[in-house]
Parts: sequence; structure tokens; C-alpha cells
Amino acid sequence: MAASKQPRYVDTSNPSLAVECPRCGLLTPRFLDLCRNCGYKLWPSSYVASAAFKAWRDADPARAAASRYDMDIPRHEELVIDYDAKAHQLGIHMPPPSNWPFVICAGALFLSLAAIPFSAAVRITLAVIGGVIFLVGVVGWVLVEDVKMFPADETGGEVHS
Ligand SMILES: [Zn+2]
Repeated sequence: MAASKQPRYVDTSNPSLAVECPRCGLLTPRFLDLCRNCGYKLWPSSYVASAAFKAWRDADPARAAASRYDMDIPRHEELVIDYDAKAHQLGIHMPPPSNWPFVICAGALFLSLAAIPFSAAVRITLAVIGGVIFLVGVVGWVLVEDVKMFPADETGGEVHS
């Protein structure tokens, strides 16, 4: 290969996957042969750039997931957000998680079955069963659980800290 002033070796101690282009000064992937912004030739050829990238990548196991087309090594960080804490911070009232809506829906199912034109006895039975389940759900959710979660002395006003 002909002699070239452009780099033929790679500094594997430099962890950066991006480099400032010597011509345009913008950040570009370090191991592509051409600057992504202005087309300046960073490496003598794509093969040399690829070989340099492989040497750089194999120098550190933490770089195994890197791609020479990227400017950062991909990182898989779980972004955990505590929405309850955030809502409290913003003064938003979040209802506590509840299973009672499922009971209410089961009651609504029997109530809607009662709308099907079966014989009168079947429809009345379904309506009674559905109504009881529905009311149990509403009472459990609104009167029992909500009062338990928010005792009377706290329901008067939202607590803003
Ligand atoms: Zn450039």
C-alpha cells in the first residue's frame, strides 16, 4: 500500500468513538473512512478504517457492542421512573391501585346478559346477580377502600409539601 500521511495505526487507549473532523470541526464517527459531515478522508481506505476499528474494539471487552457507524457505545440502562413520587411532587392526586373495578365489570357483564331476551325468570335472576356484584364493587371501591386509603382527617385537603 502506498505511503500516506493519514493515520495507519490506531490509539486504542482513546475510548472515544467519535472524533472532530480536522477540516470541518464537527463530530463524526471515528472509524469511518470519510467524515460524515464534509466527506474529508479520515482514513486511507474503508478497509484500513475497519481494521483500526477492530483493533480498537478488541482492546477492551466493554467496547464489544460498539459499531463503527455510531458515535457512542450503546448502553442498556433501565430508565426507572417513580410516577407516584413524581405525581406527588407535582401535586397530582393519584388514586391507589385497586382490584374493585374488576368486580364492577363482572357485575356489568351479568347486567348486560340480562338484556338478552331470555325468559323473564332467567333475565331477572341475571339482573339480580349482576346488580348485587355491581353494587358490591362500587361500595367496596368508593366506600371501603377509598376511605381506608384516605382517612377522614386527610381527605379535607391535598397535602402540599
Ligand atoms: Zn468534516
